[in-house]
Order: sequence, then C-alpha cells, then structure tokens
Amino acid sequence: MFDLNETHDPSLASWLESANDPNTDFPIQNLPLAVFRRRDSGETFRGGIAIGDQILDLAATGISRLGVDSDVIDAVRQQTLNRFMALGSSAWTALRLGASRALRLGAGEIASLQSSLVPQKEAEYQVAAQIGDYTDFYTSLYHATNVGRLFRPDNPLMPNYQWIPIGYHGRSSSIAVSGQQVYRPLGQLKSPDDQKPRLGPSRRMDYELELGVFIGSGNELGDPVDLDHAERHIFGLCLLNDWSARDIQMWEYQPLGPFLAKNFATTISPWIVSTEALTPYRLAWNRPDDHPQPLPYLESAANRAAGSLDIWLEVLLHTSAMKATGMPPQRVSLGNFRHAYWTLAQMVTHHTVNGCNLRPGDLLGTGTQSGPGPDEAGTLLELTQGGQSPVELPNGETRTFLEDGDTVIMRGWCESEGRPRLGFGEVAATLLPTKM
Ligand code: CA
Repeated sequence: MFDLNETHDPSLASWLESANDPNTDFPIQNLPLAVFRRRDSGETFRGGIAIGDQILDLAATGISRLGVDSDVIDAVRQQTLNRFMALGSSAWTALRLGASRALRLGAGEIASLQSSLVPQKEAEYQVAAQIGDYTDFYTSLYHATNVGRLFRPDNPLMPNYQWIPIGYHGRSSSIAVSGQQVYRPLGQLKSPDDQKPRLGPSRRMDYELELGVFIGSGNELGDPVDLDHAERHIFGLCLLNDWSARDIQMWEYQPLGPFLAKNFATTISPWIVSTEALTPYRLAWNRPDDHPQPLPYLESAANRAAGSLDIWLEVLLHTSAMKATGMPPQRVSLGNFRHAYWTLAQMVTHHTVNGCNLRPGDLLGTGTQSGPGPDEAGTLLELTQGGQSPVELPNGETRTFLEDGDTVIMRGWCESEGRPRLGFGEVAATLLPTKM
C-alpha cells in the first residue's frame, strides 16, 4: 500500500480552473489514466490523464515537462497501457508526481501543457489495456446471500464462501468501454414447470454493479503473491457492469458456474483510478468475531489496518421514455465498497496461491457490491426480490428486469471531510433488442 505524499495534499489546486470545481470527479489529487483520442478523428489512441474537464494528452510534446524517464513516456503513448502497467509501481508513482507538479497552481511554463489538453467532451475512449484474462470474484456477502436465497432457498450461502474469495474465469473478448450497446442475448431458458428448455431471448436481463481491478505488474508462473505485496501488483480501479441474463443463468449455472449468462458483455468505465490516489480513503478491514477468520495466507496486520476502501457506488436507470421526455437518469441504488467481505489484496493473493500467473492488463471484477440495506443492492434481481416486487421510477414506469432501450449508468466516488471529492467518472451502456 502507498503512503500519503504531496500528491494527496488536499490544499493543492490546479492552474486549470475546472479541476478546482468542487463537483468535478477529477481534481488534481485524482489524476486517473485512460486511452483516448478525439472523437471521429481517426487519430491513434494513446494514454491521457483526466484533469477537471480536460485530458492531458500524454503523446503531446509538452509532456516532456513531466520529468519522467523516456521509457515511461514511451509506454504511456501506446494504444494500450500494458507496457506502462508492466513497468511497476515506481513508474506509476513517478508519472503521478510529475503530472501533479506540472498541473498545480504555481507551476512554471504552463503554456506547453495548456496546448496538450483535449476537452473530455470531444474525446472517445477504448479499453485501456489488452486484457489477457478476466476473473470475476464474488466478494459481497450480502449479494451472495441475497442471490443464494433466490436460487437455493434452503441453502443460500455455500459453506466455502466464508473461507475462499470465490471467483470464476470470465471472458475478455466481450469487455468494452462505456458507451457499449449490448444486444439482448439468446439462450436456453427453462422455467421450473417446463418439461424441457427452449432457445429464446432472455426475459430477465440484469446488471451487476462492480469495481474492475487492473493488474499492473504480474507474477511468474509458480510464484504466489503474498498478502503484504499484493497491492503492489494492482494498477488501479474502474467501474464495471457485469451484464447478466438471470433466466439463462438459472438453468445453466450448476455444476460449473456462470457461462453464457455472463460472457456476452461486460462494460467498464474508461478512467482507471490508481490505488495510490485512493490512499486517503482506506479503511480498516474487519471480519465479525462469529464468522470464520481467514486462513493465515489471507491474514496480515496491514490488511486488517487498511485493506478496505471507502468508495460510494451508485446505479441509475435512463429508460427510453425518460430520454424521450428529457428526464434525467434516476438513481435506483447507492452502496459502498466498504462492505466487501474480502479485500483487493486477498483477491490477488488467493488468485495466485496455487502459482497461477497474473499478467499486466489482466482484469479482476470484485463481484456485485450489495450492502446491508434494501436500497444498497447492486442488481435488479435483488432490488425486485427476484422479479416479485418491481422498482418504481419517478415517471410512473416500473422495472423488474431491463427493457430494450434502457441505459444503465454506474458512478463511483470518494469523499471525506477536508478533502476534495474524487470520482471515477461513469460507465454507461444501453440494452438493445436481440440482434437479428
Ligand atoms: Ca459478477
């Protein structure tokens, strides 16, 4: 884990006015990375840093002012950030420090950097890394219990849940950046009363509110990552929507887990917030006394002291009718990552304990984040109790599951007394009818 340093100083302001707006997601204390270009320009995608409502273009000439080594600059100019991720935390920290010093109020020679800014509203993004492998975890006890109760009323929480950070290997080919248009998938459907399954479009389309975790430096095959070194392998976090077809899932999930109910689409936010930026929002991690305590390889004083993170996570729906009448998106849930049953470090350590190698650009999903309250559930499945109790929207519409034309928007942010708000931007994606 990182120590607090000058880049976290809450009194820092930028010479770029929009970065000092109390409502911006991207104050100078944040400095997340994405891969972008000017929309519809045919330009090459390259790395950029969000600052206020602008992007610092890391391929522009003024960037030589950041005072980092040429191998760092070369790596962040690529169309994916895998090379930069592989350079490790000293390179990530150097770039963050260089950008912080060059963008802060009072920095000299700002003209060359001013000419390296691109307005975010003129940009388009792509997934920031070539994602080799994608693993989705299941770290919310509340989500696991809620879903288990719906799928297996007599046996909601499996006995391994409180011992293992449960996960499955997902598919990377269908991961796309915010703005994705998702076709309602076909799949095998079978209600309990049906004699046999039939093929048809899913009628129970859902989202899952998650954080995505990009791996930076990897580990060699056969070399587990111990808990107190696990955070050094994490490049940063984004927002992640794990699209889920509940009716397909219900029929296929036993005995080997999620397959076609999940692998048709996963949407992530373009900006990756570094774990260094999140340092002021760390929390102690606890396991209730009456729960099983972690095995020794998943236990450490540092993980207990600061393994958890205070990140607010919100889901909004924007239906076709809302769009047609000019109504803004409406919130359907608000929760916090602090309720996760396992920490990021425990996920990395468990993933590698058998010698499995993680590689730069691999993506982990935290699993759906649901909290203890009824309005803190990160899926429609839970908010509607399995489709029994519809969510009512302010324009009179209701939803049990998603309808064609619905846009799902997820936002995340950190806030604490005496510090500027630090946000993740958003991930938005729209459900379309089945592709014919
Ligand atoms: Ca999931």
